[in-house]
Amino acid sequence: MTTQSIIDQAKKEKRLILTEEESKTLLADANIRTTKIAAASTRDEAINKADEIGYPVVVKIDSTDITHKSDVGGVSVNLKDANEVGEAFDTVISSAKENAPGASIQGVTVQEMADPGVEVIIGLSKDPQFGPVLMFGLGGIAVEILKDVAFRIVPLEKRDAKQLIREIKGFAMLEGYRNLPAVDLEKLEDLVLQVSEFAWAHPEIAEMDLNPVIAQADGAIAADARVILEEESQ
Ligand code: ADP
Ligand code: MG
Repeated sequence: MTTQSIIDQAKKEKRLILTEEESKTLLADANIRTTKIAAASTRDEAINKADEIGYPVVVKIDSTDITHKSDVGGVSVNLKDANEVGEAFDTVISSAKENAPGASIQGVTVQEMADPGVEVIIGLSKDPQFGPVLMFGLGGIAVEILKDVAFRIVPLEKRDAKQLIREIKGFAMLEGYRNLPAVDLEKLEDLVLQVSEFAWAHPEIAEMDLNPVIAQADGAIAADARVILEEESQ
């Protein structure tokens, strides 16, 4: 599916929030690195997709009504074979049904498991005065509790991306920490720039959340993504 057909489909269904698969397809269309992903509505289909993608994989709930998947027990990582994928399919679906009663559930997504690294967040929101603004920070607790994030107005230049990443208090985490190697800052900067370009090219996008982007010693990849469309685009 192309970017335009995904946006048209969401419009038709009167949805502003794109699913993870739709969001990642949009990003991949713009050459932004995301984990390979495929939707599956049955246990067997999930196993087939996992076989195609290659192990280890991650299985996540696929529901247009659930945006915080781990809150409902809807994420199962590091699945090493068909058996584990089958079990994860059942667990993820039943936890989501239990924790989000009434949500319409399409099935699951099966995806490539990204190599470990430092989890960061790249976000986009619109400021009434400045227009699209890009946010960068460390993922997880750092963003939720410490609010250790920095902002730049879109579009960014290379120099802005460099400064943005170095502005957060937790920058040292990216330079190597205990047994963690330093991340490839150049590739992380490039990804920030790609997201800025993507947002600039698509004014119909209101918000974006790439959380986490996994920053590794040799690259950076979006492991989760959520795109929200502008109301006017409907
Ligand atoms: P949520 O909807 O709750 O934000 P996520 O998709 O972000 O769910 O998954 C929760 C966590 O699972 C992530 O922060 C990350 O640590 C891990 N994770 C998710 N997808 C992947 C993936 N494809 N590869 C590696 N780790 C992943
Ligand atoms: Mg997430």
